[in-house]
This record gives sequence, structure tokens and C-alpha cells, in this order.
Amino acid sequence: MPTHTFDPNDVTILMVDDNPANVKLLADMMISRGYKVQQASNGPDALKIAQQDPPNLVLLDIFMPDMDGYEVCHHLKVDPRTCDIPVIFISALTDVEDIVKGFDVGGSDYITKPFKFKEVLARIANLLTLVHQRHQIETLREQDRQHFETLDRMKTEFIRMATHDLRNPLNVILGYVRVLERIELSGRDRELLTEARQNIELSVQKMRNLVTDVLDLAQIETGMDFHREMTPLGPFLAASLQGFHTVADEKGVELIFLPPAIGVSLMIDVKRMTRVMENLVSNAIKYTPPGGQVTVSARHNGEQALITVSDTGFGIPENDLPYLFDAFYRIEQGEYQREEGSGLGLSIVKTIVEQHKGTISVMSRVSRGSTFLVALPLEQAAS
Ligand code: ADP
Repeated sequence: MPTHTFDPNDVTILMVDDNPANVKLLADMMISRGYKVQQASNGPDALKIAQQDPPNLVLLDIFMPDMDGYEVCHHLKVDPRTCDIPVIFISALTDVEDIVKGFDVGGSDYITKPFKFKEVLARIANLLTLVHQRHQIETLREQDRQHFETLDRMKTEFIRMATHDLRNPLNVILGYVRVLERIELSGRDRELLTEARQNIELSVQKMRNLVTDVLDLAQIETGMDFHREMTPLGPFLAASLQGFHTVADEKGVELIFLPPAIGVSLMIDVKRMTRVMENLVSNAIKYTPPGGQVTVSARHNGEQALITVSDTGFGIPENDLPYLFDAFYRIEQGEYQREEGSGLGLSIVKTIVEQHKGTISVMSRVSRGSTFLVALPLEQAAS
């Protein structure tokens, strides 16, 4: 458990003063408070002691013959063994210049003679508390850093393992199910086999979609393999919609694309932004009943490219809107319930859009439809 203060019994103070009377006076006071004390009457002796048996704090007289306090402090601060030991200067001086010089050479504080004992004790205690807390913060930070590194390594390992051990076996099962389809059987056997095959395939596909979404989200969140390139927006959107015309037709939903009137290019990771469009458009089709419309349009306002995916579908209840982009969040009632999904699509979308320094928002009215707006910055784009 971290403590907020230090124990004087654990603290050694080195006192450096060429006047033995001064040293004795201070030393007695510190010892009476429980501190351990080292003493030196000149600079070279002080440095020797500090190097051999580093104290927790140095009380350093400025005016001493041969080597003055500033020089001692300078030597302490350039030596890696002693550079972290805080130094309090002691002097009869009250001149601002001398105080500033003390701070310039690395001093932490300053006390003047004649000593006011209460003040000396308070300054020492203050400084030691600060040092003590700084050490504790550094220790906690180092623990956090190590902890984070371990978690990060575990996460990478998990994604690697899961990709192989979860996704691959599902693909193998799916492959064999398709082989079974070609085995010749007759009558009732054939009907049973077809039913079993269809159910297995459906379950495996559901599981594969979930596993794929979980793994993709984990991988996308790590920021691994994020490669952006300058991409013309219109053709990009047209390409990402390509597979959806048939899906929309089959459901009886009209898919309309309104490309940007003025050509604009964006720095995007094409694979990931395709994923964004696919999720938004497939949701729009999925949650729009036959006879409805899904419209994808794009424009720019000089600062941002604005891509909208609107539908005339179920809409989203106001209460659900704040949670819509949370992982695994699904609206589990009425018409929504009939649609399959992992609840991860929109959280993948949001993560990717934010990796592009963009934003995503949604406006929706129940039974009227929804509009998702993706805004991407143009600053790195060439128009
Ligand atoms: P899911 O895989 O369930 O579709 P998403 O994260 O993509 O997961 O979406 C979360 C939930 O938000 C969905 O379950 C659905 O209830 C709702 N939702 C998403 N897009 C639409 C939309 N265009 N219209 C109505 N509801 C939507």
C-alpha cells in the first residue's frame, strides 16, 4: 500500500558546513527527530561520502573554502550515483542572485542562517515527502507499464491463436458439409441429410460471423496493419456498394447512390473503410422492410468529406441511440429480433472511423428510418 509520507528513521541526511558549531547544532536537532546524520566539513569529503554511501538529502553550506556549495552541488548533479539526491542550500545570504544561482546548479530549496528550527524541519519534511511521493509514482508507473506490456502481448497472442484455432476449424467443417451435399442418397435419407446439412451450415456460418467480428474488432483496436492511401471518394463508394445491389434487389429494397458532385480524394485505409460502408449499408438493408429505400450519398464542406447512409426502415428508438455503437449492443425487440447479428458491426465502424480521425453520428425516427453520417477530415486530402 503506498504511503503519503516518509519515516525519519529511514532517512539519512548529509550535512556539509565548514563551521563545526553549525553542523553540531543542526545534527543534534535532526538526530532528536529520528533522522540519521552524516557530516562533512568540506566539499571533497562531502562528495566522497555521497558517492560511497548516498544519503537521502544534503544540507549544503554555500560559503566554504576551496570548493564552495555551488560546486559541490554541481558535482552531485552530474554524477548518476548522486544526481537524484535533493540538495537544500544553507547560507547567511539573502541576496536573490545567490538564491537563483543555487537553483540553477540543481538545488531544491534554500534556508538562511541563523536557523529557525521549525522552518528547517518543515522544509526538510516537505522535500522528503515530495521525493517519497515521486518515487512511489515512478514505481506505480513502472508497474503499470509492465502490466500494460503483458496485457498487450497477451492480446496479440490471443488474436493470433484465436484466428487460427477458432476460425480455421469452422472453415474446415463448412467445407465438409458441402462435400456431404454431393453424396448420393435417396428418399427419406436424402431429406434428413439435407436438413442436417442446412442446419449445420447455418450454425457454423453464424458462429463464423461472430468469431470474425470479435477477432476483427480486437485486431482493428490494436491499430495493427493500418495503411492509408490517397483514394478518390466517388469510385471508392461505388466499389464498396457493388455487392449490395443484388442483396437489395432480392429483398425488394431500392439502393440509390448519389456520388459527390465534385471529385474528392481521401487518405483512407481502403480495406477498413470498405468494412465501414459494408456494415452501414448491410444494416440499412437488413433493417428496412421490402418496398423501402436505402440511399448512400457523399459531399464535402471544405473541411470534411460527409458520407451518409440513409434508410426508410424501422428506425431506432431514442432510448437505444446512446448505446448503439457499444460492442454487442443490439435492439432485441419486435422486428429487430428477426434479424441475425453480433451487435459488433457498429462498434467496428466507430473504431475504424475514429482511427481515420473522423466522427460518426446517427439520426433516427422509429418507423421512419435512420441516417448514419460519417465525417472524415480533408486536411491530408487532395481535391
Ligand atoms: P448487428 O450485427 O446486430 O446488426 P450492429 O452493431 O451493426 O450489430 O448494430 C447494432 C444494432 O443497432 C442492431 O442490432 C440494430 O438493432 C440497430 N441498427 C443498426 N443499424 C440500423 C438501421 N439502419 N436501422 C435500424 N436499426 C439499426
